[in-house]
Amino acid sequence: MGLSKLISSDSDSSIHSTFASRYVRTSLPRFEMPKNSIPKDAAYQIIKDELMLDGNPRLNLASFVTTWMEPECDKLMIESINKNYVDMAEYPITTELQNRCVNMIARLFHAPLGDGEAGVGVGTVGSSEAIMLAGLAFKRQWQNKRKAQGLPYDKPNMVTGANVQVCWEKFARYFEVELKEVKLKEGYYVMDPEKAVEMVDENTICVAAILGSTLTGEFEDVKLLNDLLLEKNKQTGWETSIHVDAASGGFIAPFLYPELEWDFRLPLVKSINVSGHKYGLVYAGIGWVVWRNKSDLPDELIFNINYLGADQHTFTLNFSKGSSQVIAQYYQLIRLGFEGYRNVMDNCRENMMVLRQGLEETGCFNIVSKEIGVSLVAFSLKDNSRHNEFKVAEMLRRFGWIIPAYTMPADAEHVTVLRVVIREDFSRTLAERLVLDFKKVLHELDLLPAGEGSSKNG
Ligand SMILES: *Cc1c(COP(=O)(O)O)cnc(C)c1O
Repeated sequence: MGLSKLISSDSDSSIHSTFASRYVRTSLPRFEMPKNSIPKDAAYQIIKDELMLDGNPRLNLASFVTTWMEPECDKLMIESINKNYVDMAEYPITTELQNRCVNMIARLFHAPLGDGEAGVGVGTVGSSEAIMLAGLAFKRQWQNKRKAQGLPYDKPNMVTGANVQVCWEKFARYFEVELKEVKLKEGYYVMDPEKAVEMVDENTICVAAILGSTLTGEFEDVKLLNDLLLEKNKQTGWETSIHVDAASGGFIAPFLYPELEWDFRLPLVKSINVSGHKYGLVYAGIGWVVWRNKSDLPDELIFNINYLGADQHTFTLNFSKGSSQVIAQYYQLIRLGFEGYRNVMDNCRENMMVLRQGLEETGCFNIVSKEIGVSLVAFSLKDNSRHNEFKVAEMLRRFGWIIPAYTMPADAEHVTVLRVVIREDFSRTLAERLVLDFKKVLHELDLLPAGEGSSKNG
């Protein structure tokens, strides 16, 4: 047997280095399940290596979603990774932890609960599922009322700003509710409460306000909306109420702006959603929806199941899911406490201000986001005749930064912004570094011939 025969032989089980095996020499299966097994260390190595080409989550400044948690919590999550959340009879403690989270979040949002009274709400996969559930509750409530009054109930609509997150458009299409959107205008990128209330009619199941617009982080004026809608309800005899999409702001406002009235302190606010995986400080996979009272959640949406060993109520769109995120949310709530969340949110705000000032000082940007709101900086180029925001975003990728550029919705489509979301794990050093890299990019763009930096695709 010659040497070359030996090397190319397929007896890989005797070769311990994955990189000396045939597994790194052939392309990976993409369309069909392979016939034979491969060693676990080889499988691990080749998948891990391909994943190296993903962006670095910590430098992904496009996302609100948590990318860092304490190692102790990582440990708890790994330890519960094999628990199916839906097996509530088998894992009653996990269910209990979810209920405690609901209680705490309902009280954080000032739900009118007595001492020791349980909050009304549920853990979901994220705000999107939470919003589907809240929307369904409004739709069913409205239909029940219309039926009882002998009125048509086939044309439900919902009023929002054109700045709503895509999940509201999904809700509208999947559950056949017309979305009536208040248009934006240049310089005003949230729902105008006066225009929203004008659009309300007898078929409106609710008005959805956003606490922390996805596009600019700005808080909508829920208090004004509440007051105008109260007035309109008095005149018309309708009972149109409000949902607050507090996906990002729900874990910011209570700590940084406790005086701001946006939650159940306002009588027309019936339900609120928040993403546990945004400023709730848990990895992707958890959201919450809470209702003001039991009466705001129609009974017929709740299912009782008994085949898991005990009577259980469920009100979710899916059945099985992981438990780790629920457990991690409980960890964060009791580990950080009010004090800890306030400090984290304060730090995010401080670092947002450092970045904001640094960008302002370049003299090249208009800052579109407000100082009060979600900790992010949204900004446009003052002069985009020579180069545009998409090119700036593309050039920053070279330094590792992942920063999105996008156009605003109707009627402000001609405005393009760059957006940097400040999360817990984005420190001052990184903020200062980012400003330096922005300056480098601006300088390089100045040296480029006009036009080369202004195509939409860079
Ligand atoms: C992120 C976000 C959502 C969607 O939330 P997920 O938790 O990602 O499903 C909905 N609304 C707003 C305002 C958001 O910022």
